[in-house]
Amino acid sequence: MSKSYYKTSRCFDDVLLVPQYSEVETRSDIVLDQPLFFTAGMPSVDLPTLQIPIISSPMDTVTGPEMAVAMDRSGGLGIIHRYCSIDEQTKMVTTAVSRGSALVGAAVGVSGDFIDRACSAYDSGARVICVDIAHGHHVLMRRALEKFREIFGSSVHLMAGNVATLEAFDDLADWGADSVRVGIGGGSICSTRIQTGHGIPTLQSIMMCARSDRDALIVADGGIRNSGDIVKSLAAGADFVMLGSLLAGTAETPGEVVYKDGNPFKSYRGMASIEAQIDWRGHVASIEGVSSAMSYKGSVKGVLTTLTQGIKSGLSYTGCTDLKTFRSKSKFTLVTQPGVSEGHTHIFTICD
Ligand code: IMP
Repeated sequence: MSKSYYKTSRCFDDVLLVPQYSEVETRSDIVLDQPLFFTAGMPSVDLPTLQIPIISSPMDTVTGPEMAVAMDRSGGLGIIHRYCSIDEQTKMVTTAVSRGSALVGAAVGVSGDFIDRACSAYDSGARVICVDIAHGHHVLMRRALEKFREIFGSSVHLMAGNVATLEAFDDLADWGADSVRVGIGGGSICSTRIQTGHGIPTLQSIMMCARSDRDALIVADGGIRNSGDIVKSLAAGADFVMLGSLLAGTAETPGEVVYKDGNPFKSYRGMASIEAQIDWRGHVASIEGVSSAMSYKGSVKGVLTTLTQGIKSGLSYTGCTDLKTFRSKSKFTLVTQPGVSEGHTHIFTICD
């Protein structure tokens, strides 16, 4: 009996975007506004439009209240992690909302205390509930999304994931998700592909999910290393990108700065790493992540500014001033391995 295969999957390094005729005279003409809206047929509520298509990941070394506030102030969105008690998460949401954040997200799981957790986050002002599990194409996800729709109606934006295929994306949209996190196995701290043999390169998953006829938005998640990867994600059909490592190590992430050989670092770890699992559930199940430390980067505002400049420059190379036009106009070309090498800075330095 022969097996069926998915076609060859493309990753970020397999492609480049083709530069096109441009009339964009200045990057300040480029707007990156991206509305968060609800699925067709559901009445919408007044949620702010994001001014940058960047969402911080609900990981315990990425998004607490400081990051949520900073993301909101920069025009993005922060999703407060769920790896703590309901009281602790509620406090974090409350802090971000009382410090004046217009839009705050909170992550929940699909079992145990998930309903109480979501209700408490909602009561504290969270208006994006992110149903956050490693393998989102799952019966427990369907039950959770249906339950949350029943409880919250259209008063929250429901984000769900992660998924890797069009079938999964369509199912989550049909079960009630307003946006779906797309990407399995690509995260910088992720060892899912090694541990389980499963996953699809994130760019390929975005391209497949972008063929959906559902209204749900695509949140590209996992393996985004620079603004070039963000631009490629948006060109492939993503509405937003979710970032972990690019935001890790900044002042606003939870945790202290530690010094190694006099250099400052902050912790960044997969939520399925041994260290994270011991901290949040007291035991280790399948190990699908690693724990690391990132050089301290200072304020996240600086990181977001640099990323935003790169995204705007990306749009200008395609000759576009908005994301919708960019998505329809951009063209990919495949590159060879020598092409990948040429694309990396390759100056020979002379040392004395
Ligand atoms: P990064 O931006 O490449 O660092 O990837 C961040 C993403 O990795 C998160 O948004 C999650 O989707 C995913 N992730 C977080 N923790 C783990 C883990 O322990 N194993 C696998 N994936 C993870």
